[in-house]
Amino acid sequence: MIKETIEKLEKRKISARELVTHYLDQIKKKDPELNAYREVFDDAFLTAEEIDKKIKHGDTPRVLEGIPFAIKDNILIKGKMSGASSKILEGYTASYDATAVKKLRDEGAIFLGRTNMDEFAMGSSTENSAYGPTKNPADPTRVPGGSSGGSAAAVAADMAVAALGSDTGGSIRQPAAFCGAVGLKPTYSTVSRSGLIAMASSLDQIGPITKTVEDAEIIFNVIKGKDELDATSLEVELPRGSSTSKTIGVPREYFSLAEGGKEGLDEDVAKKFREAIDFLKNKGLEIKEVSLPSVHYALAAYYIVMPAEVSANLSRFDGVRYGAREDGKNLFDVYAKTRERGFGEEVRRRIILGTYVLSAGYYDAYYSRAQKVRYMIRKDFENEFKNVDLLLTPTTPHPAFKIGEKASDPLSMYLEDIYTVPINLAGVPAISIPFGSVEKEGKNLPVGVQFVAPWFEESRLFEVGKILESK
Ligand code: GLN
Repeated sequence: MIKETIEKLEKRKISARELVTHYLDQIKKKDPELNAYREVFDDAFLTAEEIDKKIKHGDTPRVLEGIPFAIKDNILIKGKMSGASSKILEGYTASYDATAVKKLRDEGAIFLGRTNMDEFAMGSSTENSAYGPTKNPADPTRVPGGSSGGSAAAVAADMAVAALGSDTGGSIRQPAAFCGAVGLKPTYSTVSRSGLIAMASSLDQIGPITKTVEDAEIIFNVIKGKDELDATSLEVELPRGSSTSKTIGVPREYFSLAEGGKEGLDEDVAKKFREAIDFLKNKGLEIKEVSLPSVHYALAAYYIVMPAEVSANLSRFDGVRYGAREDGKNLFDVYAKTRERGFGEEVRRRIILGTYVLSAGYYDAYYSRAQKVRYMIRKDFENEFKNVDLLLTPTTPHPAFKIGEKASDPLSMYLEDIYTVPINLAGVPAISIPFGSVEKEGKNLPVGVQFVAPWFEESRLFEVGKILESK
């Protein structure tokens, strides 16, 4: 998509203005129903005109010249409102570009708008947005996944060529799988988090949601790299000289090669997963059963480490520094009222949980133990990556669920992330690739499979991802 589009631009078969017009038309037509965008930018045409001038002038196009992007509402764009789909940030305008956004801009990207999400990226369905849920383009009675549901729906419904999302426990990969898009969570520290409204800083990564694996690769190569503004970011020579991938491990905790499924995994999704395995085998890859014994504890550890970091990160939203403010009798009252009215239910639940697990009497019992589990999970991945080049898992236990189906049951919502969360805890990179669909109630719902690579080996994900995509 990206390469073909730029070629057309260069040969002047299409102008950037026409491209923007096409996507804005799509948005006008589809978004009133889908609600993928929080805001569409009226200055996209200005950027397009500048680009058209350059191309007329004969300038060589940059890597993303004229490519229309959708940006998740928690990634700052200078001069634009940014709100993480929360009431508490109402009226907040970003005073700088997130580093990933700046890098896209420098390569010629056009920003169409900002996309809907679960409030502060907490959720798996986009139903936790303060601005109404986004709908799944494949079946609007179903969720698009979350928290980057708006970005995934925008790409899947052709309301953007590509999008940026953020992934703390699955928020890029799960919605990509539900909507039928490609979603990449890079290795922790490869993409700068500067300008990303923080959820859980030791887990958050920005990444692309795209129509093809090649597009994800192109965008990843643009946004990665060390950044002075994010002390955890690294410059790593990529790829790190890895050879072609030959062996793929399937963790038996998620899928039994012998039995062809696993408890908790939808039968139709299991069938598709089995098909993906057979396809890869036919392409000459060796598939092995492997074991990640500690992943049983991943969700439990995640729902301690993540809220702990959430409670610290969200303490800055007090009505004084950013966005909306409620009046009060004194300063404390202002804080309390602003936070009570500004934060939604799920956000408040996690702040309370986070302060609890960090409190003096419980720190050792919960937080320290969760950190130990996190270390064990990391070790599991390290051990198996001595035996295999990549891991393969389903991205989600079932296809997109109905709007409202899980909204009142946090625990069943948390279980959505069973295959994605361990990857964030370990910090390794993973990609979700669309692999056909399953039929539910007469609708074809997309299914995704997830490849996981060792730290900094994104190139393996792209290589094998392209093989699978060729089906
Ligand atoms: N769904 C997970 C959660 O609610 C992951 C969210 C994310 O990756 N931002 O925490």
